[in-house]
Amino acid sequence: MPTYEYLCKDCSFEFEEFQSIASEPLTECPRCGGRVRRLISGGGGLIFKGSGFYETDYKRKEAKREADRKKEKAEETSSAPKKAEVSAASEE
Ligand SMILES: [Zn+2]
Repeated sequence: MPTYEYLCKDCSFEFEEFQSIASEPLTECPRCGGRVRRLISGGGGLIFKGSGFYETDYKRKEAKREADRKKEKAEETSSAPKKAEVSAASEE
C-alpha cells in the first residue's frame, strides 16, 4: 500500500497516510480540520521526501546555469561585462 503525503493548507501540518490506490484522497487535516493537499500523485509508492526543498534547489541550479551562460556569453563576445554581475554570479 503506498504512502501518501499531505500538506495542510491552513496550518502547514505535513503527515503521511497509508492508503490503497483506490481509496479517496484525504481532504481534512487531522490536526486542525483544514483543507489538505496531497503532495504526490500516488502509484508505485514513489515518495518525494521534501519535495519543496528539491524544487527550490532545482530553481537555484537553473538560475546559476543561466548566470553561467550569461558569463560565458560575455566572455565569448569580449564585451565589457558589468563587474557587479560577474562577481554576483561567481559568489553563488
Ligand atoms: Zn491543519
